[in-house]
Amino acid sequence: MSTADEAAATAAAAAVAEQFGFFAAEVVGSRRLGPTLVRVTLGGAGLTGFASGGRDQSFSLFLPHPGQDAPVIPVEAGLGWFAEWRALDESVRAVMRSYTVRAQRQLPDGRTELDVDFALHGDTGPASRWAARAEPGDRVVLLGPAVADNRSVGFRPPAGTRTVLLAADETALPAAAAILEWLPADVTVHAFLRVPHPEDVQELTSRATVEAHWLTGPDDLLTAVRDARLPDPAHLYAWLAGEAGTVRSLRRHLIGDRGIDRRRIEFSGYWRRGASEEDLRAEALAAHEASGE
Ligand SMILES: Cc1cc2nc3c(=O)[nH]c(=O)nc-3n(C[C@H](O)[C@H](O)[C@H](O)COP(=O)(O)OP(=O)(O)OC[C@H]3O[C@@H](n4cnc5c(N)ncnc54)[C@H](O)[C@@H]3O)c2cc1C
Repeated sequence: MSTADEAAATAAAAAVAEQFGFFAAEVVGSRRLGPTLVRVTLGGAGLTGFASGGRDQSFSLFLPHPGQDAPVIPVEAGLGWFAEWRALDESVRAVMRSYTVRAQRQLPDGRTELDVDFALHGDTGPASRWAARAEPGDRVVLLGPAVADNRSVGFRPPAGTRTVLLAADETALPAAAAILEWLPADVTVHAFLRVPHPEDVQELTSRATVEAHWLTGPDDLLTAVRDARLPDPAHLYAWLAGEAGTVRSLRRHLIGDRGIDRRRIEFSGYWRRGASEEDLRAEALAAHEASGE
């Protein structure tokens, strides 16, 4: 990397640092929303200054390993935290996973609370295991937004958008539900929502006109979207999130079969079958290093 590149990279990192910060929090409550989803509410004085932009606002969640009473994360390293975190032993350093702010509330005494909806998939993943057992007082750390207009909000329909397509599985349902709460009244939404059980279906709130297609059991998102009649493709904005392979197929279908402009599609693989988030991060880092950036 040249000196100029290094300076540019440092400036970019500093700009990102202005938008985000570390927030210590603790569990203040949890409740099951259905067989698959559990809502964990986070609070505590350390959340002051957290500023969700709504919609699909995501953040990094740091969790302790069983036996630790708080996640180990070198926040004091400032911009160097990631390198220092990676250098720690895997069994010691905090588990780092991506989640969505389902809701942020300001309490009458000024404190902040966040709801985070976790899709449970058994004890195979540390975050799923943690969420299933979360109890008041459990400590976590978030790397999240300090300003509401930040890069971790992906849902940004162009001006003039009248029709929105949402396709989400249970991991992206929290984001889809928050997007629906954010949308104005003059939009029509075709929402395709796949959850494992009929009892996972939730009530959705929106000012927009919403056609919700809940898919339960073996029904898949690709078939449902393929079969859908979607008016006005030129003014459609699509937001796709969930299992990476499914998201890729959905995007291909919208671009290849329906001729939708790729710039009008926001997509994100939230997880990949057979790979942990740790695996996906290692893959992304290796690709980044191989590209020489
Ligand atoms: C921007 C973003 C926002 C996200 N928001 C949310 C959210 O609000 N709620 C939410 O529940 N998830 C959300 N996710 C997905 C979540 O980060 C992943 O599901 C994550 O892998 C869970 O971590 P884990 O420790 O439980 O499992 P990991 O250790 O990462 O994975 C262990 C194994 O479980 C599999 N696996 C992971 N997730 C699932 C699943 N849901 N069903 C079945 N198998 C799975 C993996 O393929 C792997 O084989 C989001 C992801 C991103 C990128």
